[in-house]
Amino acid sequence: MQLMIGSNRLRSTDGIISIRGKRQIALEWGQLNSELLLTMNLYGAGGGHIARLRRNQWTFNDHDRFAFEGNAGGFNLVDTKLSQVVLGAQVVGQDSVVITQGAFYSFAGHKIEITMEDWSGVTDSGTSTEPATQPAKPPYSPDEAASISRSVACSSDSVACPRCGCPLTRERLASEAQRDRWLVSCLICGRNLIVHAQS
Ligand SMILES: [Zn+2]
Repeated sequence: MQLMIGSNRLRSTDGIISIRGKRQIALEWGQLNSELLLTMNLYGAGGGHIARLRRNQWTFNDHDRFAFEGNAGGFNLVDTKLSQVVLGAQVVGQDSVVITQGAFYSFAGHKIEITMEDWSGVTDSGTSTEPATQPAKPPYSPDEAASISRSVACSSDSVACPRCGCPLTRERLASEAQRDRWLVSCLICGRNLIVHAQS
């Protein structure tokens, strides 16, 4: 499985992610329909073991604190009390998964946050990690950029990277002044582009 977390790409991984040295998350493909399966232990701010999901099914989940929703394209695990995504993943190609978002606690109660730009305290037990590919790649050509901007502005359908063919992710920029802009990124080649949402 090729697993991407934040801006890092992990190759030949076995799908197991350790947090501060302890296995906390495991991703695998289902035998029957190749569905992405998540196994994850959830801890509270004090480190208590508060829920466990095993292959997309709850082993325990007191008061339905967490909600899991999965489909062929990925999954979202949400903390219903805090209305916050605990872990989000997208399938971006054959045997490729991107962890798009994460906010949860380690077994020792450390807060772990994963964004598309950053991760902290996360390692995987696979063979190698490599840094983000961003600096080496030449940007999209003006023609490619114009075509991506048009497609993104016109519809919410997924738009493919002209270089890799994999679906581009889009994320609204957080600052108030730039709310009408999307950051459109290809997680395979690392190219990205700012697109005006209304144009
Ligand atoms: Zn690409």
